[in-house]
Amino acid sequence: MMVIHAPYIAKHVKVGNFVILRMDEKGERIPLTIADSDKKRGTITLLFQKVGKTTEALGTLNKGDYIRDIAGPLGHPTTIKKYGNCVLVGGGIGTATLYPIIKALKEAKNNITAILGARTKDLLIWKDEFKKHANEFHLTTDDGSTGRKGFVTDILKEVIKNKSINLVITVGPVRMMKAVSELTKPYGIKTIVSLNPLMVEGTGMCGACRVTITGKTRFACIHGPEFDGHTVDFQELETRLSFYREEEEKAYKLFLKKSEKGCKGSRSPRVK
Ligand code: FAD
Ligand code: MG
Repeated sequence: MMVIHAPYIAKHVKVGNFVILRMDEKGERIPLTIADSDKKRGTITLLFQKVGKTTEALGTLNKGDYIRDIAGPLGHPTTIKKYGNCVLVGGGIGTATLYPIIKALKEAKNNITAILGARTKDLLIWKDEFKKHANEFHLTTDDGSTGRKGFVTDILKEVIKNKSINLVITVGPVRMMKAVSELTKPYGIKTIVSLNPLMVEGTGMCGACRVTITGKTRFACIHGPEFDGHTVDFQELETRLSFYREEEEKAYKLFLKKSEKGCKGSRSPRVK
């Protein structure tokens, strides 16, 4: 978790927005959701999982350090209103994106069921915060290390059988969002997914984050990242996400090797 002093972003952020940051002048740009913000202090909070070179490098920063560039708030905000019975389904780090959403939906007087899942207990984040805002709360892990052993969809099936649901919002791994969308489709339950394609510049110019929605090309950065889950080509999203895996692995290994030698990547002078 990282709290960043970025007063302009903190002032203008809306639920569902994200930032794109660059650690140093030669660094790649990565998108991260604004999980929380504080207008008075002028801060935004990011929650990230170390999965590769840039997130690992980000994790080496200490209190008082700097990030070279941060652009935001970006993306189309979440539509917050009174829907009635809402189910929020979060997988792993995707839960970070759901946090501002659960707070805003609760404020809009919705009845909320939260279902959080992860591979194992160490990958579950902010469960107590979710518990605080949810009317009904469920936890699952693939390995049974905490909560119910199994998948979030096992619980969602039961919830759907027990009450009528007006809206499902799900954020997490592509396969999980696909499974949730397939589960809710026959019931006709409106289902929103927050997509995570490779994103480069974030304002609709580069086209890297294109996704196919009911056969039409859309850019997740400006048309999304939220879309109707029943209209998404998940197969294409998964394929496009793995386009550069070889290069990503190479960059990650090189970074770890350099870190072992005590060099923490190529930092610009502004990144102390
Ligand atoms: P790499 O080894 O470079 O990549 C690992 C995997 O991450 C890749 O295979 C790919 O699937 C994905 N990825 C790599 N580069 C990008 C990129 N430029 N854009 C998108 N995905 C990429 N992660 C969080 O931990 N917390 C968040 O709040 C969060 N919010 C996101 C919001 C949006 C709108 C999007 C699109 C993604 C979000 N992500 C979030 C994912 C995060 O951007 C990637 O995990 C990160 O870019 C990985 O970079 P890396 O160099 O550490 O890993
Ligand atoms: Mg990377």
